[in-house]
Amino acid sequence: MTEPVDRVEVKVDLYSVFGNPIKHSRSPWIHTRFAEQTGQQLMYTAEEIAINDFDARVKSFFASGGKGLNVTVPFKENAWALAEARSAAAQLAGAVNTLYLNSEGLLFGDNTDGTGMLRDIVSNHGGNITGKQVLIVGAGGAVRGVLPRLLAEKPASISIVNRTASRAQTLVDQFSSTGKLLALEFDQLHGIFFDLIINGTSAGLAGELPPLPGSIVHSDTWCYDMIYGRGDTLFQSWARDNGALKALNGVGMLVEQAAESFYLWRRVRPETASVIAALRAELEGTQ
Ligand code: NDP
Repeated sequence: MTEPVDRVEVKVDLYSVFGNPIKHSRSPWIHTRFAEQTGQQLMYTAEEIAINDFDARVKSFFASGGKGLNVTVPFKENAWALAEARSAAAQLAGAVNTLYLNSEGLLFGDNTDGTGMLRDIVSNHGGNITGKQVLIVGAGGAVRGVLPRLLAEKPASISIVNRTASRAQTLVDQFSSTGKLLALEFDQLHGIFFDLIINGTSAGLAGELPPLPGSIVHSDTWCYDMIYGRGDTLFQSWARDNGALKALNGVGMLVEQAAESFYLWRRVRPETASVIAALRAELEGTQ
């Protein structure tokens, strides 16, 4: 007769990403790779949250023992408002993509998008932002999230151009005390060169490209698209066609912002290069 085996309770910490829509989110895939790689016991799910349910769902997630949340479109500003304390980056950005309970039990909001993009450009690709002429296309939540981090690198200037020009001006008004910022319109771009052009619009997801003149690219220009997909995005193709030195997409940013969230939650820093390579391969295979 075999002896009864004591049931071993394995405690698994719960994390989740809240958004709407959410079914294409790669975050569960990425965090599961991080957990395997670092030996952390956790489960990470993606939850589609009804537009008016965000605050209640966040509260019930943490009340029932959830350890950390990522927040994506369209809830980053709601998460900022709900947070009881915020990092300096999140405070400035007005948008939160990472939530957890801090040591005082307060709901703490951070924004890891800017760190994610910086790590990808600077650490993964050897780029430099200090002293550069930067153009940002777009003025939505993602641009708001990365601006404080970009300004901290002390570029020579950051110009912002957006389909709805008033939103670019609003960002410039808000951040102009922290660096040289300009709001431009698309037809003012002729005759200006930029060292780094960041596409922070979702236009490419609709098969569209903002009306950028090719003349803004010179042979040392880096182009960075926050979106990604199978093969080159439209903006990457545009960058290559106009002779950019580098044409990068947002896969690296996605993995790096996730790694920063993982670190904030677990105090363990995952290795990202292998996860970026695996995600690129996954995207090529599945889309
Ligand atoms: P928002 O909806 O807040 O903003 C969208 C922006 O895109 C606005 O500036 C909007 O202009 C512009 N836009 C949309 N469609 C067009 C178009 N057809 N032509 C020109 N401009 C257009 O989205 P987010 O800022 O939150 O996100 C932007 C993109 O960045 C998303 O696609 C998102 O997936 C990606 N992202 C990637 C991350 C990563 O880790 N790689 C992290 C965060 C975001 P207007 O103001 O005129 O509407």
